Amino acid sequence: MNSKVFTLGLTGGIGSGKSTVANMFARLGTAIVDTDLIAHQLTTTGGKALPAIRAQFGAAYIAADGAMDRAAMRRHVFSDPAERQKLEAILHPLIRQETEIAAQNTEAAYLIFVVPLLVESGNWKNRVHRVLVVDCDEATQLQRVMTRNGLSEAQVKAIMETQAGRQQRLQAADDVIVNEGDLSGVEARVMQLHRHYLQMAGTMREK
Ligand code: ADP
Repeated sequence: MNSKVFTLGLTGGIGSGKSTVANMFARLGTAIVDTDLIAHQLTTTGGKALPAIRAQFGAAYIAADGAMDRAAMRRHVFSDPAERQKLEAILHPLIRQETEIAAQNTEAAYLIFVVPLLVESGNWKNRVHRVLVVDCDEATQLQRVMTRNGLSEAQVKAIMETQAGRQQRLQAADDVIVNEGDLSGVEARVMQLHRHYLQMAGTMREK
């Protein structure tokens, strides 16, 4: 990772409020790099990951428009860890490459990578200066995702089971934002952390 810019990894379980928090930091002028968005770009029509995906999984996973057939791939890897690993072995190095380019090109004081599975995918923690976890109760997570995505309780629970548990994520955290209840409290915490990060970024630049 480019050592010139101060970097954070922002993570949290599904529905914890990662996007909500990332938007707050973005409004303060922080550069945000969303790794899910990068993964999407890599697998959309003309994306860099497509030749390897076609070679590994076959044409059945490529849609008529040349993009990865997301629904088919999701079904294929959801309950098969070995197949999921094959997909990740293609995507992770490419995502890494793209995030490094973003870090090299940013003009912002510091940069936040939004990485939903930061805790689960081992090496991310070593690639950022600090890990920021958005935390909320599991019942809150469940409720939010059921509402946002129109999913059943069982469907959301199945997704949550593929993710690290709350305690495991908190153990990896340098900083935590508790996102329960009113967003104005979250806004204040974001502002406090932003000042802290600007200071850290400044100290790093002086070195
Ligand atoms: P993530 O990116 O971690 O999946 P989001 O930021 O998309 O989570 O939040 C999940 C859903 O919950 C969104 O619809 C969002 O608007 C809503 N949400 C997030 N935080 C709060 C909050 N403090 N109060 C009410 N709704 C919230």
